[in-house]
Formats: sequence, structure tokens, C-alpha cells
Amino acid sequence: MVLGTSMGVPFIAVWPGSWWTSETIAVVTGANRGIGFEIVHQLALHGLTVVLTSRDTGVGEEAAKVLQEGGLNVVFHQLDIVDPSSIEAFTEWIKQKLWWYRYTGTACFHRLRKMKKDRSTINNAGVNYNAGSENSVENAEKVIATNYYGTKNMIKAMIPLMRPSDAGARIVNVSSKLGRLSGRRNRIENDEVRKKLEDDEALSEEIIDQIMDTFLEQVKDGSWTDGGWPQVFTDYSLSKLAVNAYTRLMARIFSERPEGEKIYINCYCPGWVKTAMTGWAGHVSPEDGADTAVWLALLPEQFITGKFFSERREIHF
Ligand code: NDP
Repeated sequence: MVLGTSMGVPFIAVWPGSWWTSETIAVVTGANRGIGFEIVHQLALHGLTVVLTSRDTGVGEEAAKVLQEGGLNVVFHQLDIVDPSSIEAFTEWIKQKLWWYRYTGTACFHRLRKMKKDRSTINNAGVNYNAGSENSVENAEKVIATNYYGTKNMIKAMIPLMRPSDAGARIVNVSSKLGRLSGRRNRIENDEVRKKLEDDEALSEEIIDQIMDTFLEQVKDGSWTDGGWPQVFTDYSLSKLAVNAYTRLMARIFSERPEGEKIYINCYCPGWVKTAMTGWAGHVSPEDGADTAVWLALLPEQFITGKFFSERREIHF
């Protein structure tokens, strides 16, 4: 049901018969700009209450204001995914304060009476400092800490906040085809590492963390070029490979949850998107780059989990 437009995008509001309502909350990390901002925009157009988070309060509030002024249910909170105290403050706020939120468009207050609604978390925040095949200890540490450990920390923090429901809660991780295990180009050439990551049954958090540790140790002692790691955008590719592996692992763990308490987790590649990360190069708009995240977050009860997508189609890890 198209009710109008916001920033040129049709305002759909809640579809009749859809599983979500305006009390359904979606959290998007790194949403002050780029793909994250667009994910917030599109989810809010679908009628959800969306929490736009940003590590910088000033720019985050400005970004949220743009959407609030378009009449959308968007609230802001600070969140730095590599700062445990920021994650803790954020989850406390969700628990305590989201009972009341301001709908700025009409300056009235709505009460979220029933918090027993599904939640979606879109782990979008990410960094890349590689420009080709060069590397540095500082950049490698920052990229792995943000893209992999930051995403993992957020998933762990959000799990207890996701409420039981028939439709299931959803987690979408924004990843990249650069992190594919089976890619023809830029894949891990170290057979031992690849086999460990391919083995769905044996895959564990410890294995993924150990692989990241080994890589970082090799960057520090200068031996990483012989380690069989991806050849280009090495830190970034490896961080996304870890996100993909963690997505598969968590899907397996979540599958053991009883019916009614399921959490579905998937990841996707947005394509080469014109954002600050690519220096506004690329051939995909942020709007199109956000599309698969929104689609995955709002899937009807099809119970898709542990998969990797591009342009709404499943692709190989
Ligand atoms: P941008 O650089 O425009 O946006 C990245 C966002 O992540 C910014 O809001 C940034 O905040 C935020 N961020 C970085 N570190 C943290 C942190 N520690 N805590 C919270 N937020 C943080 O890039 P994109 O929009 O392109 O990237 C979004 C996602 O898409 C990333 O995960 C990226 O890897 C992925 N991706 C992008 C592709 C592309 O072609 N653009 C291709 C494939 C994947 P701040 O403004 O403060 O820096």
C-alpha cells in the first residue's frame, strides 16, 4: 500500500497481512550514512520503528532528523560496535527506555505497550583501509576488530533482546563477495584453513577466532604474504569471510532453539556501492545496495537461515 513518497522512495507503511507492525523494532549499526542509512530509510518506509545508530552522536542525530522530518518512525542512539561500554549502554537503553519514543513528525508520544514483538538487527557497520594488496598492523587490527569482532559482539548483545514470536527474529549481516570461501578469485589458498572454515559440523567460534589471531600474528611478524590469505583487500576480505563463517555457525546454533523462539540469520553482499567506503566509485546506488538487507529482514515465514545472498538471490559462501 503506497501512501506517498519520502525522499523520492514510495512510502509503503505496514502491508496488510505482513508479520511486522509499527511496534516491531529494527536496529541498524553504522547507519549515519551510506548503505546503513538507506536500510533505516527503507525499513521505516515499511512501517517498522527503526533505531538508527552511529558512533558519532552529532552526525547520527542529524541523519535521524532527516528521516524523522519525512514522517518516519526513526529513533537515534549512539553505538560504537567496538566499544563494550557503548554496546552495554545501548542494550540498557533498548531494555529500559524504548517503552517511550518520540514520533517527531507529529510531536506526539506513542507507547510501545507490548515489547513482545520481533526484532531485527542489521549489522552494517564496517571499515576498509586496504587499497589493493598493501597492509599494516594497525589497519589489519582495526578491520578485523570492527567487521568481525564488532559484528559478533553486537549479535551476542542483541540475542537476549529478541523476543519470541512465530515469525522469528532476524539478523542480517552486511558482508561482501570478497569474503567468499569458494570464490574463483581472491580466495583462501591455505587448504588447512579453508577446510576448517568449510566444515559446518565442526565449525566453532574458537576456530574462527583462532584463524583471525593467526592472520594478525602473521601481519605483525611480516609473514602474512606467504600465509595463503586472500590476495587483495586482505584484511577486509578476511574480516568478511569471518562474518560469513559466523553467520553459518550462528544459524546452526539458532536452529536448536524451540519453535516460537527462532532467530534467522543471513548475510549478503550489497555489490560495489557508491559510498564513502568506495570513494563513491562503484555501480550500485546505496538504495539498491540496501534492498537485499531489507528484503531479508522482512521475509515472510519462509525460515531462510544461514545463507549468503546477492541481489535477493542465494549465492555460494
Ligand atoms: P560507509 O563508509 O559509507 O559506512 C560505514 C558505516 O560504518 C559508517 O556509518 C561508519 O561510521 C560505520 N562504522 C565504522 N566503524 C564503526 C564502529 N566501530 N561502530 C559503529 N559504526 C561504525 O560504507 P558503506 O555504507 O559502503 O558500508 C556499509 C557496509 O557495507 C559495510 O559493512 C561494508 O563493509 C559493506 N559493503 C560495502 C560495499 C561497498 O561497495 N560500499 C561492498 C560490500 C560490502 P562513521 O561515519 O563514524 O565512520
